[in-house]
Formats: sequence, C-alpha cells, structure tokens
Amino acid sequence: MIQFNEYLKPKTIEEAYKLLITKNAEIVGGGAFLRLSNRKVDVAIDLFDANLDFVKENDNYIEIGSMVVISAFEENPILINLYNGFLKNVSETILSFQMRNIITIGGTLYPKYGFSDLITALLVLPTEIYLYKSGKFTLEEFLKTKLAHKDILEKIVIKKENLKTSFQYIRNSEYDFSILNVAVSKGEEVKIAVGARPGVALLAYKTMQFLNENGLNEETIIKASKMVSDEIPFSDDIKASKEYRKKVCEALVKRALLEVM
Ligand SMILES: Cc1cc2nc3c(=O)[nH]c(=O)nc-3n(C[C@H](O)[C@H](O)[C@H](O)COP(=O)(O)OP(=O)(O)OC[C@H]3O[C@@H](n4cnc5c(N)ncnc54)[C@H](O)[C@@H]3O)c2cc1C
Repeated sequence: MIQFNEYLKPKTIEEAYKLLITKNAEIVGGGAFLRLSNRKVDVAIDLFDANLDFVKENDNYIEIGSMVVISAFEENPILINLYNGFLKNVSETILSFQMRNIITIGGTLYPKYGFSDLITALLVLPTEIYLYKSGKFTLEEFLKTKLAHKDILEKIVIKKENLKTSFQYIRNSEYDFSILNVAVSKGEEVKIAVGARPGVALLAYKTMQFLNENGLNEETIIKASKMVSDEIPFSDDIKASKEYRKKVCEALVKRALLEVM
C-alpha cells in the first residue's frame, strides 16, 4: 500500500498546486486507486477541503468539480437526467455504490486509465477538461497531450446538446474491469469511441466520416462495425487477446449504432 509521511488538506487549489510543485507530493482524490500502489511519497495532498465538490448548471453546459464522486451521476438531480441518464447508466457499471461514493471525477480522468468506462463515455460527449495551470482542453486533446509538468484537474464542463447515446461493454464478472467498452453518440454527426483496448479510449475517425457521409441504416451499420474493428488498434493483455477484442468490438459497435439509430 502507498505510504505518506505527511497528510495535508489545503483550503484552495492554489495552495494545493504550490505544495504539488515544491514537494515530492501526490494529489489524493478518492484514494481508491492510489492506495493500491506500492510507493513512498512525502506528502499527500487531499483536495477534500479545496472547494472542488460542486455541480453547477448553466443554460448550455454543466460544470462538475474534480472532487465530485461518480455516484453523483446517480444522485445529483442535475446529473441524473443529463443525456437521458447516459452517464448514470455508465457509472452504475463501475464497482459498487459504496466505491462510487469514494471515486472522484478528477481521480478518474487525470490519470487517463486505459480501462476507464467513464472516459470512453465522456469522449462522445462535448466534454472539456480544465487544469489549474495548463488551462482548458477538449477531453480528446487532453488524452493525447503529455503535460510538461504536474497539474491539478479543477473541473470538467459538459455542454448540453441534443444527442442520442449508447454505451456497451464486456466484462468477465460484474466487478471486473471492462475487456472492451464502446460509446456512441448521434446528433448532427455520429461519434464512436472505443476504450479498454486495453489502451485509453480513441475516436474512430475514418468510420465516423463514413457514417456521416452515408447516413445510418442497417447496411452502413454492418459496414461501419467492421471498419471500426480494423481502424482501432488493439493489444493482448491478461484479460483477452487482440483478436478477441477485435471481434467483440465489431459486435459492440453494431449494437451501439443500432441503439442510437
Ligand atoms: C478495485 C478497483 C476497480 C475499479 N474498476 C473500475 C472499472 O471497472 N471501471 C472504471 O471505469 N474504473 C474502475 N476503477 C477506477 C475508478 O473508477 C477510479 O478511476 C479510480 O479509483 C481513481 O479515482 P480516485 O478518486 O479513487 O483517485 P485516486 O486514487 O485518489 O487518484 C488516482 C490518481 O489520480 C491523481 N488525481 C486524483 N485527483 C486528481 C486531480 N483532481 N488532479 C490531478 N490528479 C489527480 C492522483 O494523484 C493519482 O495519481 C476501479 C478502481 C479500483 C480501485
């Protein structure tokens, strides 16, 4: 288990950032994943008191502070109905309610875990990431950017648009990580994200372009499902082979596209 010499709870994100860059320190969100690592770190910076536990609704978007726990998608009245409960449905697939009450948005997005279900889902929504020092990124830019220095995820912003959505996944058992996950959204354009490849989620641009030019119907969906599994790179890991993921991807994308059609 991880070991800390000092445990600090700064009152502001400014204070937290100063500690982060001047010491051998690590940010603590919910601590659920962090505690599993076997390292010694001088200072634990717990963001619990740093006023990052907020959900604010505006006409066109919703702001979610990094210390909001993912069970908020099941409990917060603003978040429950967002995209017809899409994020609620995704969150409910992750571990138990008790664990979802601990796991934070910041701890889920900042480390860019390949297995993440929420990252795949948020990638097909208009999602922006706000880092304290490095500023604003789209989620996709953030996933592709290697930051030059340590930073703190302050909040995410999800714009409200008229989208139909679907999330599909395959796991060996309820509390296991996804072997593959797929999210699709359809507004004026179709977006397809594939995660747990086992690498972090990617958008399938060639296939998205094909569908946006040819429309969604049973024929294009069958073709697109095959295209995605050829377009997205997969690898082997302890859970599944590359070939298995490729086959499963085709089936999950087909299911998701039929659902949004
Ligand atoms: C046993 C187990 C099973 C899991 N299964 C799944 C699953 O099936 N699907 C799934 O999607 N997820 C799964 N997760 C991951 C989970 O959803 C969270 O992503 C993970 O626990 C991290 O969230 P946390 O709040 O606990 O972060 P922590 O453990 O506190 O932190 C994780 C990392 O993020 C950094 N960090 C935290 N907050 C910030 C911030 N605001 N700014 C910058 N850096 C920050 C920390 O320094 C640390 O490096 C699982 C986790 C565990 C422990």
